[in-house]
Amino acid sequence: MEFEMKFDEILDEAKEREITKEEALFLFESANELVKISQLLSTASYVRDKNLGRVFKLDAFILSSNNGCKTNPPCGYCGQSSQKFKFFTKVATPEEVTEFAKIAEQLGFKGVQCGGGCSGYKGAEAVKDTKIVKESTNLDVFVNYGADMSEENILELKQLGVGRIGCSFETINEDLFKKIKPGDSLHERKKVAQLIDKHGVKLATGIMIGIAESYIDRVNHIFYLKNFKNLSTIYISGFFPIPGTPMEGYTAATPIEIAKTMAITRLAHPYADLDGSFGRDDHLQLWIMAGTNRRIIHGIFESKNKIASAFTKHFYGEQTQIGEDFIFINTLPIYANMIKEMGLKPDLNQSGDKK
Ligand code: SF4
Repeated sequence: MEFEMKFDEILDEAKEREITKEEALFLFESANELVKISQLLSTASYVRDKNLGRVFKLDAFILSSNNGCKTNPPCGYCGQSSQKFKFFTKVATPEEVTEFAKIAEQLGFKGVQCGGGCSGYKGAEAVKDTKIVKESTNLDVFVNYGADMSEENILELKQLGVGRIGCSFETINEDLFKKIKPGDSLHERKKVAQLIDKHGVKLATGIMIGIAESYIDRVNHIFYLKNFKNLSTIYISGFFPIPGTPMEGYTAATPIEIAKTMAITRLAHPYADLDGSFGRDDHLQLWIMAGTNRRIIHGIFESKNKIASAFTKHFYGEQTQIGEDFIFINTLPIYANMIKEMGLKPDLNQSGDKK
């Protein structure tokens, strides 16, 4: 009985104030059956609606002139480490980047994200892509090239008016990081995120779940993000095994564990934009129930890439060939419909942040 009261009490207070670390851990451990999980998710939805409104922001992911990811060995969960699902096998030309930016603008998007792997050029592609998009459209640009970003290029991106720079940690448990990202450096990623923050640029960053992390790891990560005063967007990605990768034998994160993590993140960060990721987009409506308010729509693929055919099983849409190597699938009507079914308003124009 006392336990029930504590659970209800924390959720009641979470409607008015950010939860503490101890409360977050208690919620992870206690929301372990249908009724409590529903209560947790509905509180997260309430906090989203109260602080950010019943709107759901959408940005488009667009092509990048990124030279591929040189992380060696590639991350264990990533398609880059699979012969069957490798992406970044083609480099987009400036004309192809321009063409896609124009399609995104015509569809009504206000913000687009260019992203790619760690090519070793320290953000030079981010600068190049931003210039291409800004010269040919009126779009807001966000970039995400992981840890591959120099201070000089952060400053140049700031100068160009980039709205957000992404740098995900996936996990801040050092041992786990080394295990799933043996060719990457948590230290480097933290350094880049700190530089983005220091220069007053909005930071987008991700937490991956389902990689054998504990609830304490998740709580430590959620609260570590409070160190960034320019934190703008948190992505929660739920691992699923990609065939041919070193982690193909791992079990996928369950939809409910993803949703619980989103909801608890929302209660700890009431004003941040919260997004899902890693190709689990058919769970979008559950994510909305868990307090998310943003999604970057990935509708662009190398035309012969098998990821495209796997993805399009769920997301059919009008296809446009871009150059020789890429296709764009207009998934916007599918996302807009899922959002409207949940009683929220899809918003393509609100790319800025509330905070
Ligand atoms: S850094 Fe990113 S793109 Fe490169 S292997 Fe790791 S997850 Fe994949």
